[in-house]
Formats: sequence, C-alpha cells, structure tokens
Amino acid sequence: MSELRGVGIGLGVAQGPVARMADPLPAPEDTPSTLSVEDETARVREAVAAVARELEQRGSHAGGTARDVLEAQAMMAEDPSLDAEIGTRLAAGKTGEFAVHDAFASFRDTLAAMGGYLGERAADLDDVAQRVVARLRGLPAPGVPDPGHPFVLVAKELAPADTALLDLDTVLALVTTDGGPTSHTAILAREKSIVAVVGVGAAKDLVDGQTVIVDAAKGVVTVHPTEEELTHARHRADARAAATSAPITPGALADGTAIPLLANLGKPGGADEAVELGAEGVGLFRTEFLFLSSTNAPTVDQQTRAYTELLTAFPGQKVVVRALDAGADKPLAFLNDAHEENPALGLRGIRALRASEDILREQLTALQQADAATEADLWVMAPMVGTVEETEYFTSLCREYGIKTAGVMVEVPSAALMADRVLAIADFASIGTNDLTQYTMAADRLLGSVSSFQDPWHPAVLRLIGMTGAAGKAQGKPVGICGEAAADPLLAVVLVGLGATSLSMAPTALADVRAALLKQTMRDAERIASAALGAADAASARAAAQAAADDHTSA
Ligand code: PEP
Ligand code: MG
Repeated sequence: MSELRGVGIGLGVAQGPVARMADPLPAPEDTPSTLSVEDETARVREAVAAVARELEQRGSHAGGTARDVLEAQAMMAEDPSLDAEIGTRLAAGKTGEFAVHDAFASFRDTLAAMGGYLGERAADLDDVAQRVVARLRGLPAPGVPDPGHPFVLVAKELAPADTALLDLDTVLALVTTDGGPTSHTAILAREKSIVAVVGVGAAKDLVDGQTVIVDAAKGVVTVHPTEEELTHARHRADARAAATSAPITPGALADGTAIPLLANLGKPGGADEAVELGAEGVGLFRTEFLFLSSTNAPTVDQQTRAYTELLTAFPGQKVVVRALDAGADKPLAFLNDAHEENPALGLRGIRALRASEDILREQLTALQQADAATEADLWVMAPMVGTVEETEYFTSLCREYGIKTAGVMVEVPSAALMADRVLAIADFASIGTNDLTQYTMAADRLLGSVSSFQDPWHPAVLRLIGMTGAAGKAQGKPVGICGEAAADPLLAVVLVGLGATSLSMAPTALADVRAALLKQTMRDAERIASAALGAADAASARAAAQAAADDHTSA
C-alpha cells in the first residue's frame, strides 16, 4: 500500500474503483482537409446537432440550475453566427475539427474580453467545442466518465459544468491533482458533503479500476489498500453515516451541558439549509461576502434588505453578524484602495472600517433597522480586533446605534493575550481560529508552501484559545468559536474543554460535531483539552487528544 497526500475537504472516508476524467483533447492541427467542403460541412453539422441534443438530454436529466446551464450550452453550439464562422473556415479548405476549434476559439476570446457573467461563459464554450471535436474524431466526450458503476472520480480539477452534473449516487469521492482548499472542487465538495482530497499531485498516476481509500479527515489517498484497511475505512464510513442520520438535537455534552451549534453563513439564502441541518442560530454571518464584487459601498437600504432576510429566518434565535471584514484574502474595492506589501498585516478588518467610519456607521444603521423589524436576537461583532482601545471604539459605536449585544472577534494573538481586559468591555468574544492560527504561526493562510503551519491543533493556538476561554468564564461572558477548527469533531471537544460556550461552522459539519460532543462530559472535555495543551506540536496534540478521548470511551 502507499499513501498519496493532499488537502482533505471535510471528514468523510470512502473507497472504490478509480475512474479518471479524460484530459482535454489537444488542439487540432491546421492541415488541409482531404474531403470536399460539402462532406466536411455535413460531418460538422451532424456533430454539432448531436452534441446539442446530448447536452439538452443531460440537462433535462439533471434538472435545476444544471438544466439552465446545459440548455444554454446547447444553444451556444447551434448559434447561427458560430455556424457562419465555421462555414467560412470549411470553405477555405480546413478540416471540420480545425474549423470548429478555431471558430469557437475566436468566439471564446470575444466573450472572455466582455468580462463579468458573459466572460465566465467562455469556459462553457470551450467545453462545447471539445465535445464537438471529440465527436468528429470518434472519441468519447471529455468530462465526467460513466463507467456504469459507482467510482472515485480522479481529475485535474473540475470545471463548473462538470460539477453541475455530478451524480452523487455514483461519485463515491473526488480526488484532484490540482487545486487547494478554496478551489472549485473543494467548494462543491463542502457544499454537497462529498468526500474529497484535493491537490494530490501524485494522483496523476492512478489508473482506471484501481481500488483506493479516500480519507478526507487525514488528507490521504491510499493506493493498494490491505483488506484490513478497507474494513477499517468501511467501519468509519458507517459510523459517520450513523452520526449524520442521528436525530437532530440541540448541541450538548453527555452530561447535558448545552453547547449551541450555530452556522457560518455568507448569504441569507443559506439559512434554510442551515435550519434543516439543525443550526440553532448563526455564529458568523460574513457580511463582506455580499459585496465582494461591488465597486461602491452598499447603500443602507440594500444592506437592511439583506440583513432583514437573514434575521427573519431565525426568529427567537441568536444571529451573530460580523461588520465588514475587508482586506487580504477578502478585499473590498470601496474599503481597501491602497496597495500594501503585506495586506494581512495591513489596514484590514476593524482598522479598515475605522479608516472609513461612515461606511461602518451605515452598516450599523442597517443592522439596527433589520433588528427592529425582526424577531431574531442580533449580536454584532468586529473583525480583527487587536487592542482594548479598538474594543472600546467598536462597542461604544454599536451602543450609539442601539445594538444590544456588541462583541469582538479574537483573531489576533494580542486580543487573546489581553482577553481579560477585552472581555471586561465587550459583551462576548468569538474566536476566528483561521486568522488566529495564521497570525500565531506567522503563516499566510493562502500560501500552500506554509500550509503545514496552518494547523489550529498547534498548542500555541490552543493556549491562546484557553486564555480567552478562561477570561470569558471569569467575566461570565460567552466565548464562541467560528473558525474552521469548530468543524473538526475532536477539536470541537477540545475547544469546549478550553472554555468555548458555542461552536459555529459550515452547516454540513453540524452532524459530526453534534455526535462527538454527545460522547463526552465537561470533565472529559477538560481532560482531553489538557492532554492536547501539554503536547509540543500540532500532530502530538491531536494524538494526545485522541488517546484521551478513546481512554474515556473504553473506561
Ligand atoms: C477566522 O479567521 O477564523 C474567521 C472565522 O474569519 P474568516 O475566515 O472569514 O477570516
Ligand atoms: Mg478571520
């Protein structure tokens, strides 16, 4: 057996035979056709029509948004001006393959130059061209294979049109050679809870039919697994399926201590799914996601509408909205206009808001209006707070606008180190473990070459979380967690042991975390957390926590 490493998305494990997605066809050469113009034209017409019909059929089979995408592709294939462009090339003696490729390429460039929505359709046009050329050559259409049985899909990276059509009953897992945790494949896998490991460079050597285990929790693809490994993986998959189908109950430990399980959301439209999966409210609403493509600051009305829609979905429940977190990985044109050498260390989060206070004031106005119009329990927090003075600034501004519960995110080590003073002022803290890890370990969260440092299990990060948890306890103030760490079931137990009073995560992670919490009492959680805290590095902290958790289970 051998292990191929990448970045795991989610916590699932799956096994099955590999089916590779065919690589794109090479561009046809510009050699003169040996057929008459009429014969080439007939071949091309037949191929274009067949591809258009096939796309329509696949669309009606897939339904929903995929149908719209595929019907639009079918129309592109038969577009009369494209037909005329192809005809011009055929009349000049080109082969059908070259004429199609060249005519589509010129259209593609025109579309791409338009930018925006039309620009994004350029990739769809490439896909249609590839299908027509494949048909002319008598080759299978590129894209997701159909081996006639469930399979592990291995690809370079998935195009949007491929992902729209994935049949979740037959795709057991995804493995890509390219892409990182924010790639299109990773986003899809998270959204649909598909087991996936991305960025596995060595997966290029996997062959069709070979059995592999895809372990997203470890970020490993096992090639030539032993019988024992296959059985172990099957048991883990069964246990996870049982956790996912367990009844949805409010988040709690085995001793009944309530640990509310909340959702991280980026748009109000995600609320229904979160409620369905048992979210007891929202622990992080990333308002900046609403305005990533806006060049101008959003109006108060525009914001009030969005926040009202969100709050309406959670009557009587807590909804924590974060003020715009602009900068570094999430630049907003209207808040970050200056070039910075190190934007992660620059004018971001609360610093950027302060530099454009009118925009912050408008956001607070909109939030107050949405709160007044709805029944949810609105909490508002500031991102990237690093000092006690910033805490004072933000909370007093919130109070000016009648916001009842105002808090800060703990993402900068200085805020964790000063948590006793910060929490003497703020109504609550929410720990953003993604940034807290980045800043504690001095490792850019977007940079693959330092991703091994980006591990929230590192005891240095855990110590800072413990200090914040202790400060919350001493002051009687809630301390939530809203970074990705809360979605790791074992780490979630550790975080509770360190003093977290609620956990917020992508809704698809709720079931696993709910099941993990139910296995431990508060005393267990504290014991497991102290095992992790006593380790020297991230891997040993994880191993120590696992051993402490298993010890309890067998006791
Ligand atoms: C975090 O940093 O952990 C966090 C929740 O905020 P974001 O990931 O949006 O920066
Ligand atoms: Mg952050």
